[in-house]
Amino acid sequence: MRRTALLSVVALSLIAMATTNFASKANSAASKAEDDFQLVKVADGIYAAIAKSGGLASGNAGFIVGDGGVLIVDTFFTPAAVEELIGEIASQTKQPIKYAVNTHYHLDHTGGNQVLAARGVPIIAHENVMAWQMTKNTRFLPAPADLQKRRADTAKQLSETPADQKDKRTLLERQLRRLDAIQQIKLTQPSLTFGVGELSLYLGTREVKLFTLPGHTGGDVLVYVPDANVIFTGDMGWSKTLPNLVDATVIDWIKSLDLLLEHHGSAKFIPGHGEVATRAEMGEFRDYLDGLLSTVRRAIDEGLTVEQAKDEFKLPDRYKSFAFQNFAQPNIEDMYKELKGTKNTK
Ligand SMILES: [Zn+2]
Repeated sequence: MRRTALLSVVALSLIAMATTNFASKANSAASKAEDDFQLVKVADGIYAAIAKSGGLASGNAGFIVGDGGVLIVDTFFTPAAVEELIGEIASQTKQPIKYAVNTHYHLDHTGGNQVLAARGVPIIAHENVMAWQMTKNTRFLPAPADLQKRRADTAKQLSETPADQKDKRTLLERQLRRLDAIQQIKLTQPSLTFGVGELSLYLGTREVKLFTLPGHTGGDVLVYVPDANVIFTGDMGWSKTLPNLVDATVIDWIKSLDLLLEHHGSAKFIPGHGEVATRAEMGEFRDYLDGLLSTVRRAIDEGLTVEQAKDEFKLPDRYKSFAFQNFAQPNIEDMYKELKGTKNTK
């Protein structure tokens, strides 16, 4: 009897393991665009893919459909996410993917490059992306051993979380899925670069203009569709989101945003992070940078050290609802270093 009971327990565990295994396979097979980004139609044939928190996209991307092909703006953080985007494109149009653009080198905008390179799609970027893609980007890509450890820790946590704690389990499963996707990233270069001026591409009769502006990394490209008055800003624009200033020159950036709003104030903006925006949100972001600059300038004038400046800093109330609150303190430090001339932005 005892032996039978024991066997039943073993059998049940095996079934449970098999089921878990099956479930995780079913999960990855059912990897869906809607888990990672929201597709928003911005104008005729222009779509923004707005990244969802904790998913495989991380940064926004999008695509432009013309009568002679499709252009993809940014390749998200992971190959899996850009595969999902390609699936969405195929459901909207039969036109082939003719070009991709990297708005800058940061991995949340270039992590899926390998997928487009494998399809023979030219990837266009600022020439500095070529210089930084394989080198500076390593700081955004955890080492394989680190990823494996994080994966094992998360899997252990999941196995110890009871079935009735559904929210926690969902969160952990989402983390596992993300860690698996990150393991697939192979840093991949663009294939066509330019440094100054504009570059016009034609998707049949539809013109798409690429141009550069300094501020966010010193290697940023913006994508403008004149016939629809839409601009993909990449990370030159953030909507209701605190920015990453790790490579930024904020003084240049404010001037660039002033220029952008002066010449394209009536455009619809697809930012690198946050929802589709208008002049109001881009202006709000410009004012955030301007406020940061004057706050830190004052701190330096008062003789504060960077640590003192960070301690004294209070994020103005109007930015407290912004996403990425974790950037508030690093923003002070980056601004401080920029003003002191100790920031490495080469
Ligand atoms: Zn980004």
